[in-house]
Amino acid sequence: MRLNRFDPSRIRVEGGGGGGFPGGMGGGVGCGSVVIALIAALVFGVDPSSMLGGMQSGAPTQVQGNGSQQSVEELCTANAYATEACNTLQSLDETWAPEFQRAGIQFAQPTLKFYSGGVNSGCGAASSAAGPFYCPADQKIYIDTSFYDQLDRQLGARGDFARYYVVAHEYGHHIQTLTGVADAVRSAQSQDPRSANQLQVRMELQADCYAGVWAGKNRNLIEPGDFEEGMTAASAIGDDRLTGGRVSSENFTHGTSAQRMEALRAGMESANDAVCDRYVQVR
Ligand SMILES: [Zn+2]
Repeated sequence: MRLNRFDPSRIRVEGGGGGGFPGGMGGGVGCGSVVIALIAALVFGVDPSSMLGGMQSGAPTQVQGNGSQQSVEELCTANAYATEACNTLQSLDETWAPEFQRAGIQFAQPTLKFYSGGVNSGCGAASSAAGPFYCPADQKIYIDTSFYDQLDRQLGARGDFARYYVVAHEYGHHIQTLTGVADAVRSAQSQDPRSANQLQVRMELQADCYAGVWAGKNRNLIEPGDFEEGMTAASAIGDDRLTGGRVSSENFTHGTSAQRMEALRAGMESANDAVCDRYVQVR
């Protein structure tokens, strides 16, 4: 996908949170919004049970180690993955802001926060092993760009579009936060804990669908192979694939490979976010 180069004055980007991991996996990690958190946890050997219950919002943790003096330009040019993520963020902002305006819903840009090793987010402490995630409490997308090497080497999801898809999926959780879907799902889950997993899967599939809508609305920038890269990535991170079928469907939190591919495809082909209502609807 040929994304335009970011303009540092138009995106919200932060650094910091690098270095040592601030103590333990933190029960609140993930905020239930980690694309690949569970996967990464399984692949990289972190106990995923701390993340399966990640929907509880918990008290926001004090954000520390945030005193990065680096400019947006510096943060976004730290490495090629960072530049890609910044380019993706700007494209996502530009694609979604008008949609919110049309729908009459207040839009706010999320912040992309680069960290390495560990970070204290508004949703608790997280380590890189958690993979990229979105925290609704501070409306930030957290990425340790070293994850992209793992995505390529360990999960077999290659290509630039696979990486854009990761950012676009996390951005999908930001959309759910702004529209109220995230809150509605959270309260439905607390009212009926037995449906919590299924609702979580639907949230994840909707975020995949939104990622697809973003790509579909930027069809002119799509290059040959992008669609396949997205499908490979979506397939690689399905719960059934990751667990080798060891967990039952009640334990799935992100959907099967087939479900994730279908959701991404539905968004891409329609380029219409209303299509994503089929997964979760608030009103
Ligand atoms: Zn997610």
